[in-house]
Amino acid sequence: MKQIIGLYPGSFDPITNGHLDIIFRASKIVNTLIIGVAINEKKKHLFDMTERTNLINEQLSINKTKISNTKVIAFNGLLMNFAQNLKANIIIRGLRAVSDFDYEFQMTGMNARLNSEIETVFLMASEKHQFISSRFVKEICMLDGDVKSFIPEEVFYKLKKKLNKN
Ligand code: ADP
Repeated sequence: MKQIIGLYPGSFDPITNGHLDIIFRASKIVNTLIIGVAINEKKKHLFDMTERTNLINEQLSINKTKISNTKVIAFNGLLMNFAQNLKANIIIRGLRAVSDFDYEFQMTGMNARLNSEIETVFLMASEKHQFISSRFVKEICMLDGDVKSFIPEEVFYKLKKKLNKN
């Protein structure tokens, strides 16, 4: 049977319970799931690429009974080139509110023009996790709000430490 390789790309700055929810779902529908951590020099990240990758790897190892077919790879440049090099069959994206739709709709259309063989599949997190975004987690935490229920515990401590240092 054909092996399906899925690529779930994003910034993951840092990984949230929303991302994890999508990872759990995606890992069930593909044979191999690659989490692609975008380097993107133009974006200002709180966590550098190694930190973001390490935080994801830590969660994969904590949840290894549920997600054993998943690995993390950092990438630079065009997503579709990376997907082609990996021989990925599908790109996984998470959909939150309607606000994600416009951007995702355009990106999927453009990507399909670049390579029509690679399908984009959208997944939705559970109701509890749908509204979580890394950006808001960072903003709320910076203002001393409680973000414990939005991110894994290990990420919470790293985030607190990072924000106290800055
Ligand atoms: P963010 O917008 O949180 O910085 P990323 O660029 O890391 O997110 O997002 C990677 C992918 O994960 C995108 O497809 C994004 O829509 C999806 N995603 C992020 N948070 C959630 C969530 N809470 N529920 C569903 N999908 C999500």
